[in-house]
Amino acid sequence: MKIPFLDLHKINERFRVQIDARFKQILDDGWYILGRQNETFEKNFAAYLGVKHAIGVANGLDALNLIIKAYSFGAGDEIIVPANTYIATILAVSENGATPVLVEPDINTYNINPDLIEEKITPRTKAIIVVHLYGQAVQMEKIWELAKKYNLKIIEDAAQAHGAEYQGRKMGNLGDAAGFSFYPGKNLGCMGDGGAVTTNDDALAERIRALRNYGSLKKYVHLYQGINSRLDELQAAVLDIKLPLLDEDNNRRREIARYYRNNIKNPLITLPQVYDENAHVWHIFAVRTPNRAGLQKYLADKGIETNIHYPTPPHKQGAYTEWKAQSYPVSEQIHREELSLPISPVLTDEEVKFVTETLNAYK
Ligand SMILES: *Cc1c(COP(=O)(O)O)cnc(C)c1O
Repeated sequence: MKIPFLDLHKINERFRVQIDARFKQILDDGWYILGRQNETFEKNFAAYLGVKHAIGVANGLDALNLIIKAYSFGAGDEIIVPANTYIATILAVSENGATPVLVEPDINTYNINPDLIEEKITPRTKAIIVVHLYGQAVQMEKIWELAKKYNLKIIEDAAQAHGAEYQGRKMGNLGDAAGFSFYPGKNLGCMGDGGAVTTNDDALAERIRALRNYGSLKKYVHLYQGINSRLDELQAAVLDIKLPLLDEDNNRRREIARYYRNNIKNPLITLPQVYDENAHVWHIFAVRTPNRAGLQKYLADKGIETNIHYPTPPHKQGAYTEWKAQSYPVSEQIHREELSLPISPVLTDEEVKFVTETLNAYK
């Protein structure tokens, strides 16, 4: 059996008829950027999340960048980020000239450890970026308290958690603003690059609407030094077609995750922990194992493709040589041991069973 890590063709094939029809409509309209496809998707995505505003942008990194820009956070400001994340979270801070301050994750959830945040807060701290990593919601209680106590903004990086819920509220509705990515492999993915900002703040929404389009709300009138970061009509159309199936897709991911968690029984493999079924949408099923290279090769030899999220922690990357000497042992351990198993809404029961049995036979 050959099991790909993620079969994007199979995922999008399910929408072929609708996509064909909608692309024909766009060709007939002859309107490609910031038109009715984008407007419709923005409305539907905001309604799905239960937020007032969704603003389509070019990608997930820009979504975070635009939020920080809209708050005018920059040189001299500090923004708290998890030490264990995809580097985009941290790049969005640096890009604005602000200083990312790294906080260790919790080894059980892989998310930022809320108990380690307060000691990193200084008079320069302006915001906390929470990343709902692998699709699991950050436990927000403590973070809400800190934000209130120190007057900090909460920015969500929801790029891996479309549809996840925390206390009945969807990701993208837990802080002051959130950034989403619709990169093809995400739980809600388009057929190219795409992203969105969500917020309940009217003024912030209007500012981001302008900032994503050269700082302009009216043609040739430039209120701010904006950027060009728009969601094009083809991508918005694909997203609008796929959105109604997101919950069903996430439930299938939950079903597979439940099967893995109940049936993978191997002392060499540490399974992910879940504190609430609704809080996780399983963008990634992350296991840990001491000899990761060995396990990955064993699975590859059996036809099972896996991935690593991520091989090198941000503070050990060439992009941040100034952090090279710093030590974040929990983050480093996760980066050293993590292996991502195949999980997707189009994985069959037979494939899930084969992955499980193969892992149980690993010695
Ligand atoms: C994918 C991702 C991003 C960036 O999204 P792009 O659309 O690729 O720019 C940001 N943060 C996290 C956690 C991601 O997984």
